[in-house]
Amino acid sequence: MTKIPMQPADSAPVTYNPNQDTHTKTNILGMSQQQLGEYFKQIGEKPFRATQVMKWIYQHGVTDFEQMTNLSKALREKLSAQACVEAPEVVHKEFSEDGTRKWVFKVAGGSLVETVLIPADDSKVNGRKTLCISSQVGCALDCSFCSTGKQGFERDLTPAEIIGQLWVANASYMEGVDSSEWQNNVTNVVMMGMGEPLLNYKPVVSAMSLMLSDHAYGLSKRRVTLSTSGVVPRMYDLYKDIDVALAISLHAPNDELRNELVPINKKYPLSELIAAAKAYVHDNNPRHKKHVTIEYVMLAGVNDSDEHAHQLVQLLEGLPSKINLIPFNPFPHAPYDRSSNNRIHAFSNILNNAGFVCTIRQTRGDDIDAACGQLVGQVADRTRRSAKWQQSIKSRQAEQEAN
Ligand code: SF4
Repeated sequence: MTKIPMQPADSAPVTYNPNQDTHTKTNILGMSQQQLGEYFKQIGEKPFRATQVMKWIYQHGVTDFEQMTNLSKALREKLSAQACVEAPEVVHKEFSEDGTRKWVFKVAGGSLVETVLIPADDSKVNGRKTLCISSQVGCALDCSFCSTGKQGFERDLTPAEIIGQLWVANASYMEGVDSSEWQNNVTNVVMMGMGEPLLNYKPVVSAMSLMLSDHAYGLSKRRVTLSTSGVVPRMYDLYKDIDVALAISLHAPNDELRNELVPINKKYPLSELIAAAKAYVHDNNPRHKKHVTIEYVMLAGVNDSDEHAHQLVQLLEGLPSKINLIPFNPFPHAPYDRSSNNRIHAFSNILNNAGFVCTIRQTRGDDIDAACGQLVGQVADRTRRSAKWQQSIKSRQAEQEAN
């Protein structure tokens, strides 16, 4: 695919008041309805103003209080003096020919995080558009196939930095459009970008509550998905706190292999992870979920054999699940190769024959390094770690050949 030239960051669709001094103002982006109501009380205003302002920000894309015409002039002036609506700064953006869009944001402190929008079908103007949102700068969990894991963990993102990614993505379709004509184009959100969302729990839940709120994005609970690599205690908290879809980054059907690929498995092994997933699906709460999505990256010669597929069938018995096979997207010094298409289909057939709905993720955005596992930010290449995994794979392959 041809790479579409990068657009200058200064064309980012953020309409801030250039006179505002954001360092002394309260950023109200990312505040929940309750928090915003409390803020309005603190500044001597009625809490119901919160919903009015939320609608302006999230449903009309307005960040300049002067344009919020159903607020009194006095309130607009007060807000302009004391508050701001500030998404993270866009320092780079690329739009792929297949419709994929990628943004690199500079967050407070100067770190970079990435966000990717993937359209389901670029032939449909109003088709499904899924935004993959980051929750942390880097990630502490060190999954061996993940480029983000290679940069280590730097810090958690704030609710404003999380919801700001969605705000900017929606705004990218509305450049030059009047606020009265504003439409939010992002139809689905997955918390599946950089970071482990359950390790930044409160800000992530707070941002997701805005995604679901009728006063903000009003997305259906089935269209907001949190993906975890298996922070088991937080999975039990999650279904009590918010009603969203759950995905599990599984990637291996047995503990020995998963300990290597997803090291958090050493702390929360598969038996505990699957039990938590079953609780999430089967809880007696009337808001119960119907299934979880199982994410499984296909690594040649590592986790893609027929035997692994049969183990997966056994592991998932009794857990209503849809399985999403992800062809691995190699990144520089990646210690793995992508499984062949034939292997992926053979693996998928075993799962389908066992009664699972199994899909193979279409690789999108390769031309802008936006494909899954390529969200790198400021990656410091850790070649020693890469070499370690290369060695581990070679040993495993030698073992397989010997048998
Ligand atoms: S796959 Fe997810 S949890 Fe694992 S290192 Fe990458 S970002 Fe972190």
